[in-house]
Amino acid sequence: MATEKKDIRALTKEQLRDFFVKQGDKAFRGNQVYEWLWQKAAYTFEDMTNVSKETRQMLEDNFVINHIQVDTMQRSSDGTVKNAVRLHDGLIVESVLIPTATRTTACVSSQVGCSLDCKFCATARLKRMRNLNPDEIYDQVVAIDSESRLYHNRPLSNIVFMGMGEPLMNYNNVIKAIDKITSSEGLGMSPKRITLSTSGVPKMIKKMADDDVKFNLAVSLHSAIEEVRTSIMPFNETFPLEDLREALEYWYEKTKRKISYEYVVWRGINDSQKDIDAFVKFCKYVPCKVNIIEYNPIDDGEFQQATNEALENYIASLEKNRIVVNVRRSRGKDIDAACGQLANKS
Ligand code: SF4
Repeated sequence: MATEKKDIRALTKEQLRDFFVKQGDKAFRGNQVYEWLWQKAAYTFEDMTNVSKETRQMLEDNFVINHIQVDTMQRSSDGTVKNAVRLHDGLIVESVLIPTATRTTACVSSQVGCSLDCKFCATARLKRMRNLNPDEIYDQVVAIDSESRLYHNRPLSNIVFMGMGEPLMNYNNVIKAIDKITSSEGLGMSPKRITLSTSGVPKMIKKMADDDVKFNLAVSLHSAIEEVRTSIMPFNETFPLEDLREALEYWYEKTKRKISYEYVVWRGINDSQKDIDAFVKFCKYVPCKVNIIEYNPIDDGEFQQATNEALENYIASLEKNRIVVNVRRSRGKDIDAACGQLANKS
């Protein structure tokens, strides 16, 4: 029975060097191949032109390169680009390039579908099929970086883990991908330009703080009232606000880095003064800033963007309490690339 070939990109540089030594070759051959795989983003062993034909054949006999393929790419009238990315097993995830005057941001996915079940989110309807591997996460960033250079004449400046999936439910692979993105042998990006956005998994937030990660943390809060949050984000029952608060205090204590709260205001759900007061109170626990995000309805259901008046009330109350607040207009709506809309519809 033929054994399945291993994905060569699952090997570390050391493992690759060891492999070549075991084959009776020089360890530095491992460095060369590693560079082809990561810095030069080779899709085939044939591409590795400074490696002998025999060695390329030997690699071909032992390994595969499971590169992602951009299956379809859509461009919005506002410059946003959405990639539907095909993985080696045929599953699809989406990633988005969001250009503004000062930055180009990649919004990448960490799971196929999602482990969680936020009621307002299109991805939640897909259910979690599997976690992405570190190289599948890394490849999304590389693809978006080339599109940024091609369409906007500048490299990618920022990355947010805010695509499909809950990144803290695929923590090890996300961390490995970030290591590669920030390493000089990968893209060499500064971790300060990377933000991991979570719905709030307290145990994992504490673990990140213990691991002394250097990237930024954002939490999709959407309500600071227990029953309201549980009704829109049912996992809140398992990870209640008090546990989240404690984890965020722990994060700040250890890292001294501010948290961003992502917050959508929906009509009749979290747009009352009581909701605002609870949120302002929550914001005072740990130094933070707030991003109020415009909502993109995913159907004609119960979630509708709140009135401007409600948004203004939020902003006024936050500012009165000296909390920095930005309003994020949504991008890429015409191609279903906006927040909460990623659901493999293309
Ligand atoms: S909002 Fe994020 S965590 Fe919630 S279901 Fe959607 S992808 Fe998952």
